[in-house]
Amino acid sequence: MSKILKINGLEKRYTSGSKELTVLQNISFEVEKGQTFSIVGPSGSGKTTLLGLCAGLDEPNAGTVELCGYDLKTLNEDERAQLRNEEVGFIFQNFQLLPTLTALENVSVPLELQGAKDANSRAKELLEKVGLGDRIHHYPSQLSGGEQQRVALARAFSNRPSILFADEPTGNLDEETGEKVIQLLFDLNKDAGTTLVIISHDLDLAARTQQILRLKGGKILTNETTANF
Ligand code: ADP
Repeated sequence: MSKILKINGLEKRYTSGSKELTVLQNISFEVEKGQTFSIVGPSGSGKTTLLGLCAGLDEPNAGTVELCGYDLKTLNEDERAQLRNEEVGFIFQNFQLLPTLTALENVSVPLELQGAKDANSRAKELLEKVGLGDRIHHYPSQLSGGEQQRVALARAFSNRPSILFADEPTGNLDEETGEKVIQLLFDLNKDAGTTLVIISHDLDLAARTQQILRLKGGKILTNETTANF
């Protein structure tokens, strides 16, 4: 099987004033193409930092990240951005939609910026897929949390990513709405083969993925395959 993400000997330190804080230490793991993978751990254990390093949004102090066959260290900032545009999708706990754009524009504008000619029709199609066909001209403030997260999903799917990173995607949603969002994520994995890397403190959600990496205090506690694999 091919690996879409290979992390080797990763270390991350933050300096504030004269103090240095080691946030991640000796992190090595691999994610198979098409896999559903979760990263769990208590607040402050380094999950979000790790996700940023995996996606090339931040740089480690030591170790390597190989994403979609590219060692991120060998790419410049523009090349990394291009790799993200072409291969990576993101979902965040707080949706991160642009408040001044409608649902449709939140999905179509990034597509246009990437040069897609059919941005508008593709954005409409994606919003229909997540069940928001009748809400496309609403602004984020006119949508519920679950609806906003579904717009964020449509936007994250829009470049047909090979790998999708989701940071606490249900963190701000009630259980029922969160379940709908999770179902959409797993459908994407099944239908399009998109690799899912989900950060969550929800162990029930993690148990539904194929591999669970547990972090504590910036170190790996366990990395286990679940019965779903
Ligand atoms: P988690 O996502 O598991 O809650 P984070 O990756 O957000 O953990 O944070 C891990 C640790 O790194 C925390 O102690 C946090 O305070 C610290 N941290 C995160 N980002 C920064 C930063 N930019 N500067 C300094 N410390 C940071």
